[in-house]
Amino acid sequence: MKPNNHSIHGKVFAGLATIVVTGLIPAAVLLSIFLLLVSLPLPDYLTAPFHPVIKVQAKKKTITLVLDPGHGGSQSGAEEGDVKEKDLNLTIGKYLKEILESDYEGIRVSLTRDEDEDVGLKERVRIASDRDADMMISLHNNARGDNFEYKDGCTVLTAQGNYKPDLARQEQELACCILSELEALGLNNRGILLRDSETGDSYEDGSVADYYAIIRGGLNLNTPSVIVEHAFMDEENDFQNHLSSDEHLKELAQADAAGIARYFGLKSRKTGEVLPPPADYEVIFYHMYDENPDHNKKFTKVFFPSEENEEKSSEKAAEQSTEESKRNPSEESTESRPEESTAQHKDPGNLFMITEFLRKLAEEFSSLVR
Ligand SMILES: [Zn+2]
Repeated sequence: MKPNNHSIHGKVFAGLATIVVTGLIPAAVLLSIFLLLVSLPLPDYLTAPFHPVIKVQAKKKTITLVLDPGHGGSQSGAEEGDVKEKDLNLTIGKYLKEILESDYEGIRVSLTRDEDEDVGLKERVRIASDRDADMMISLHNNARGDNFEYKDGCTVLTAQGNYKPDLARQEQELACCILSELEALGLNNRGILLRDSETGDSYEDGSVADYYAIIRGGLNLNTPSVIVEHAFMDEENDFQNHLSSDEHLKELAQADAAGIARYFGLKSRKTGEVLPPPADYEVIFYHMYDENPDHNKKFTKVFFPSEENEEKSSEKAAEQSTEESKRNPSEESTESRPEESTAQHKDPGNLFMITEFLRKLAEEFSSLVR
C-alpha cells in the first residue's frame, strides 16, 4: 500500500505537534522561571563588597565584643607620676565602647569592668566567654621591661598558635587591623608579641602554653583574646603625644575602633561604607620563649594578600615556613596559611561573577524576546 500525500502531511504535523508539546512548552516554562528569578534583586550576601572576614558576617548578624580595661582597684598597673595605667585603660575602654556603638552597625560592646575595681584575670576571661564574645580585647599601656627589645610604640599580644591555630589566626588578623590604625596615629608599630609560658605550663594537647593568662584562658574557653598595649607610659614622646589628655586617649580609642571595624567588616553609620583590612599587610612578630632576651626571635609575615600579590606572598610564607621549621620544628603549626585567605578571597568573588554573568545573559535574552 502506497501512502498518499495527505497521510504523510498528517504524520509530519503530528510529529511536529509532539515536538512542540514535549520540547518547547517545558522550555518556555523553564525560561519564564529563569527570567522571573533573574529579575528578582540579588540577596545581600551576593552583592555586598567582599572582604576576607565575610565568613564572620555571614554567620552572625551582630558581633559581640567584650572590652577589658586592664588592672583596676588595688592593681594600678604601670605608673608615671600621678598617672595610673588602670585609669588610662578604663578611659580608653569607655570611649571605645561609645565610638563602636555610635559609629558602626552590627556590634554589641560591653566591658569587664566599668569602674575602678579589682577583677581577676580568670574572671575576665570567664565574663567574655559567658557573654559569648566573638572576641575579647584587653586594653593596656606599656612600661619598659628588661626583656623587651623596644621601649616605645604599640604592640598587640596574641596566642602563638601551637594550640587552636584558627583562633590564634583570628587574633593575629585583628592585631594587624588595630596596629595599622595606631601606626597611622603616629605611634611606632612594634608588631605582634608572642610569649611562651616560663613556668612550663602546657595546654591540654601538651603544647607549650601562652604566657599571658588572658590569652591562655581565652584559648581554653574558645574565646579569642588579644591584649593591646597602646603606648609606653614611661617614654616621653609616647606619653606626651598619646596619653597625656582625654583627647589623646579618645584618639587611641578611635584608632582601635577603626581597626576593629575593618576586621569585622562593620558598616559605618555615617558613610555607609565597609572598609577592608589593610591589604598585603606585613607585620613584625617578636616571639619570647623564656626570660633570656637572647632567645627572642623576630620575623615578619604578610596578612590579607591582595590578588596580585597572593602568589608572591604564598611563596614568601612557604619559604619562611621552611626556614622557621628548620629552626624550631614545633613551630610548624604557627605558620601563616596563605591558602586559607586565598580561598576566602576567591570563593565569593567567583560566585559573584557567575551570577553577574547569568544576569547579563538574561538581560540580553529578554531584550531579544521583547
Ligand atoms: Zn597593663
